[in-house]
Amino acid sequence: MICENIGINGNHLTFAGMDTVALAEKHGTPLYLFDEDRVRHNCRVYLEAMKKHFGESSFPCYASKAASFKRIYEIMKDEGMGIDLVSPGEIYTAMKADFTMEKSLFHGNNKTDADVSYAMECGVGYFVADSIYELDAIARCKKDSTKQKVILRLTPGIDPHTYDAVATGKVDSKFGTAIETGQAEELIKKALSNESIEIVGYHCHVGSQVFDSEGDVYLQAAKIMLGFGAKMQKEYGVAFKVLNLGGGFGVRYTDNDPYLDVDATIGKLGAFIKEECAQLGIDVPQIIMEPGRSIVADAGMTLYSVGTIKEITGYKNYVSIDGGMTDNPRYALYGSKYTVLLANRMDEECDFVADVAGRCCESGDIIQPDVKMPKPVRGDIVAVCTTGAYNFSMASNYNRIPRPPVVMISKGKDSVAVKRETYEDLVKNDI
Ligand SMILES: *Cc1c(COP(=O)(O)O)cnc(C)c1O
Repeated sequence: MICENIGINGNHLTFAGMDTVALAEKHGTPLYLFDEDRVRHNCRVYLEAMKKHFGESSFPCYASKAASFKRIYEIMKDEGMGIDLVSPGEIYTAMKADFTMEKSLFHGNNKTDADVSYAMECGVGYFVADSIYELDAIARCKKDSTKQKVILRLTPGIDPHTYDAVATGKVDSKFGTAIETGQAEELIKKALSNESIEIVGYHCHVGSQVFDSEGDVYLQAAKIMLGFGAKMQKEYGVAFKVLNLGGGFGVRYTDNDPYLDVDATIGKLGAFIKEECAQLGIDVPQIIMEPGRSIVADAGMTLYSVGTIKEITGYKNYVSIDGGMTDNPRYALYGSKYTVLLANRMDEECDFVADVAGRCCESGDIIQPDVKMPKPVRGDIVAVCTTGAYNFSMASNYNRIPRPPVVMISKGKDSVAVKRETYEDLVKNDI
């Protein structure tokens, strides 16, 4: 199986030690499952590896856009993780979970003055500033004489060879300020006269679903960022306290995806950073990383019920399920790969091939093409694995379809963390 929290009992698929068919019956479909113990395990892998290889002051920030709801922030608080937030809505949700905001970073390439004010009111620890517009906005919105800690988001000019839509560290990215063009240095010169901020360091995020095999992109990024930070410290006296290397570690969606060893990758990066800093004659800065996908992806699974089975003689087959791009738009957006299983017939031969299609009025509403499975019948349960990241958080109400609930599983017990939306919820803002 692609992850150790997935198993088989008789002819039923199990997830986090529980029978998925029974869970589908109890909570209805479509249904998001979340394995809380797996989330905690993934956090601890980062917490331990970063302390060990980067030093005591370093810490991981969970990039909460991957999956954002109250229970997740409570878990992150409990585990001692920092968090990334990208909108006032995420800030609000984290506040509702009593998250300690000093350990939060506020991201985004276009923060409005209202966003900036709200984030400061809530006591967000660090702003990850994308451009001069944001530094000006911070100065405009600052109400007291303290300085807002700012990390500057830069583009080191690295292409991690992932999907274009998720490669974010290239010079021509919509995110960050480019080092290569001299604009990052210009930004710092301007920022020096801004009394409302303290630049504590630099941030880059090379992309997502990146595997170490792809040319050590993290080492390349670290080298450029450290060189730049050392130069700014020397030339302009900007103390280089924090280096944030972003997120992006890849996860296994199918058996063809490699395993990424988080501890070994961070170990290699830690040794490299120490060596580079020694050469540059600077102290090793506090290192922050921002894993999103690799914290929650394999902690998620989605269950659906099979509705119609359409065999177009001589062409292809479709198996339609009771969810779709409204709860998982990733195939429609990026052509993402998934492992799809027939959860109630795990002991049968997979001799039928079909596109698993959603129920939306869009031909592109496909969860996964060319899935091999036993020939399904109406009412069978379809499981899509590794859906913990960028599924619930990307869900929509297209076609006025209510979002599925999130059911958390911990130590063999299931509990609802987010309720299923109702039709009443759908019209609550309609006047
Ligand atoms: C999306 C994002 C992350 C998380 O990326 P993953 O691939 O989910 O680990 C981290 N940092 C920033 C700035 C991001 O935009």
